Amino acid sequence: MQFTASTQATQESQLFVCTHSDQITDETAKIIANTLTRKEIFGTAAIPVSGSLKHIAVVYLADLQVETMQKAAKEAAAWAQKQVSLSINLHPFCNLNTPLVTQALVAALGEAVYRFDAYKKEPNPAKLQSVEFVHPERSEMIKDTLSRAEALLYGVNLCKDLANTGSNICTPTYLAETAAREAQAVGAEAKILGSDYIRENMPSFWGVAKGSVQEPKLVELRYFGAADKSIAPIVLVGKGLTFDSGGISLKPGEGMDEMKYDMCGAATVIGTFIAAAKAKLPINLAVVVATCENMPDAGAAKPGDVVKAMNGTTIENLNTDAEGRLVLCDALTYVEQNFTPKAVIDVATLTGACIIALGNVASGLMGNDQDLVDALLQASRNSNDKAWQLPLFPEYKEQLKSNFADLQNIGGRPAGTITAATFLAHFAEHYHWAHLDIAGTAWKSGVAKGATGRPIPLLMQFLVEQTER
Ligand SMILES: [Zn+2]
Repeated sequence: MQFTASTQATQESQLFVCTHSDQITDETAKIIANTLTRKEIFGTAAIPVSGSLKHIAVVYLADLQVETMQKAAKEAAAWAQKQVSLSINLHPFCNLNTPLVTQALVAALGEAVYRFDAYKKEPNPAKLQSVEFVHPERSEMIKDTLSRAEALLYGVNLCKDLANTGSNICTPTYLAETAAREAQAVGAEAKILGSDYIRENMPSFWGVAKGSVQEPKLVELRYFGAADKSIAPIVLVGKGLTFDSGGISLKPGEGMDEMKYDMCGAATVIGTFIAAAKAKLPINLAVVVATCENMPDAGAAKPGDVVKAMNGTTIENLNTDAEGRLVLCDALTYVEQNFTPKAVIDVATLTGACIIALGNVASGLMGNDQDLVDALLQASRNSNDKAWQLPLFPEYKEQLKSNFADLQNIGGRPAGTITAATFLAHFAEHYHWAHLDIAGTAWKSGVAKGATGRPIPLLMQFLVEQTER
């Protein structure tokens, strides 16, 4: 879809955005706005003009909170996707709010027209082809906003495409090669390490990967956007289980197809990285993705196995379905050995317990540095991509004590999200670290089944705010 900025509306279908009906000069739109109550945020009418219909719609914002804007933008987008082209009139908005309204609309329109039809004989694309944002004085400002908003949308769509693709196609190799290709296309560096490196150096990761015929990959992406290349980077780490059967601790069959989404952490950090690089954020950023399958092949890890992780910690594998932390712990050590990071944020569909705690509304957030956690919470509020902090009290370490190794990989049912993060914290002691558990937020089940692209909006907002500090 094409987004442009203009000083004058040129399309037949028109959307007017306002906070008060007096702001609207178009007579039809004004009538629609006047019929809306404070509770209604969207109205539309079709008026006949020389044999065809002219579509007019109004979005009425009760306030300028990001949540209000996003809700209204979603309603408008449901209507807009049925138009072929559209002018959006933003003239009531000031310097501060024009970018915010534009951003909310681009995200909502992008979401409304997103399809994953690549494997259908008859694709069903949205009608909407082009959107023009109109402001008599601020079209240059809108142009700047659009380039960042489109970069974000690109990252979100890339994440969704990777996540929605079946695991027979989106293998670790496919995921790694797509990440490298996308990174190189935006002028970033990419490195892929395969089974030789992982077997030799990352034994806990290898212990999970060796149960599958698919080769595991470790992907490293580096983008130098800061004026000084030597400035410590923010490193995003992603869990990339392209399919999680549970391994020998096999999952039940129902809904198992959704375990193709166990790579959403990887897709999220790749999408965020590409969005940040496309938007040319003045920041040094890196991504480390550990990707493999968790399968019950003959070589698979078994309950009771003990492995020595990359940093020398021994781990008793009590449940092969708690494999994400076994992969991530070595990825976190890899980061320690290969970077001097400003901060490390790992993103993972890590625990079903997170869905019990926070449902599908908020991502679980934990970390060893409250300033970093606070910055992420701030970005979460500013993007309305919800996250909620859970504690990492030292008492939780008790649940990870093993009779046969330094740690065990499960801590029982109580506080499952926290004990998983407590496990990871053991491998992240030497830098500022935060962890996002996105098991409840990365994809939707049921009729709306599909990847959400979350929490890319949160992470992108965090990165932008880092550049503004
Ligand atoms: Zn699992």
